[in-house]
Amino acid sequence: MSVNEDYERTLSYARQAMTLMEKNLTPATPQNFELWYNYCLGQDKNLIGAINEALSSSEALDPADACQIYNAYLNDNILGEKIDEVCSQMGLEAEQITTMIQASVGVTSSYGDSMEIISNKLGDVENSKQLKAVMGTILTATRDMESTTRELEAKLEESKRKIEELNSSLDEVRSESRTDALTGIDNRKSFDEQMILKTEQAKETGQELSLLLGDIDFFKKFNDTYGHQTGDQVLRLVAHAIKSNVKGRDVAARYGGEEFAVILPHTNLRDAVKLGDYIRETIQAKELVKRSTGESLGSVTMSFGAARYRHGEDIPELIKRADACLYAAKRSGRNKVKAETDPDIDMSMVA
Ligand code: GH3
Ligand code: MG
Ligand code: MG
Repeated sequence: MSVNEDYERTLSYARQAMTLMEKNLTPATPQNFELWYNYCLGQDKNLIGAINEALSSSEALDPADACQIYNAYLNDNILGEKIDEVCSQMGLEAEQITTMIQASVGVTSSYGDSMEIISNKLGDVENSKQLKAVMGTILTATRDMESTTRELEAKLEESKRKIEELNSSLDEVRSESRTDALTGIDNRKSFDEQMILKTEQAKETGQELSLLLGDIDFFKKFNDTYGHQTGDQVLRLVAHAIKSNVKGRDVAARYGGEEFAVILPHTNLRDAVKLGDYIRETIQAKELVKRSTGESLGSVTMSFGAARYRHGEDIPELIKRADACLYAAKRSGRNKVKAETDPDIDMSMVA
C-alpha cells in the first residue's frame, strides 16, 4: 500500500471516529478517540460487540462504559497502573506511620520533662496540701500521656488495617498478572516462571518432570466458520478441560493463541502421555453448542507433544523437543499425543 493510500485510509477511520464520538457524546479524550478509532477499524470483534452492547441500553456511550471497555480491550498497562496506585498508597501509609512514631517519641519525651520538673518540685514540698497539688499535676500529665497514646494506638491500628488491605490488593494484582484474561488459567508469564521453579526442584530432588504442549486442531477453520467469539468459548472450554484434569502441583497454562502447556512434576513420560491422551479424549467427547442459537457445532480435537526433562538442560531445549513432538503429532494426522521416545520420531534435528 502506498503512503498516500495509507494516509487516506487512516484519515477516513479518524474522521469516522470523530463523527461517532460527537454522535455518542463521548468526551474527546485520547483514550476515547483510540476506542472509537478501533471500533471503526473493525478488527476486534469483541471490542465492537462490547460497544454495541453498551449502546443497546442507552442513547449515548456512557463515559464509565467507555472507560471500562477501553481497559478491557485496549489498555495494556492497566496492571502497571494498579501496581502504581497500590505502591503510592503504601508510600502514604508509610509516611503516616513515620509521623506517628515521631509524635509518640515527642509525647514520651515531653512526659519525661514534666516528670523531671515535678521531681524537682517534690524537694520543696512542705505539707500535705502541696504534696496533693504535685500529685494532681502528675495525674494530669499521666492522663494526657495516656489519652495521646490511645489516639496514636488507634491510628496505628487503622494504618495496620489499611496496609493489610493494600497487601491483599497487591496479591490480587500479582495473581492477575499471571492469569490469562480469556481462559482464567495461568498465562505465558506464569508458565515461564513455573518452568524455572519446577525444573530447579526436579534437579534438586532428582525427580522426573515431563512437559505436554497441546494445540487445537484446525482452529483457524473453526474460527472462520463459527466466528471468533465462539472460538473464544472453545478456548475457555479447552482450558477448563485441561485444568480440571491436572493435580495441584501441576501447572496448566495458555502458552499462546490456541496452544496450551502442562508442566508435570514427579511424572514420567509414559504417565504424561497417558494424561495427554485422557485430556485429548475429554475434549473430543465434548459436544460444542453455540450459546446464542443452541446450534450444535460438533467438537474440536487437539494434538499433543510430550517431552521429558533432562536434569540440568536449558528450558528452551525441553520446550523445543515437546514442540517437535507436537509438530509430529500434527503431521501424522492430528488428534494424537506424540512423545520424544516414540519410534517414529526423529529427534536428531532437535537434539
Ligand atoms: P493446526 O491444526 O495445524 O494447528 O491448524 P490451526 O488452524 O489450528 O492453526 P493455525 O496456526 O493456522 O491457526 C491458529 C488459529 O488460532 C488462528 C487464530 O484465529 C486462532 N486463535 C489464536 N488465538 C485466538 C484467540 O484468542 N481467540 C480465538 N477465537 N482464536 C484464536
Ligand atoms: Mg498453533
Ligand atoms: Mg492449531
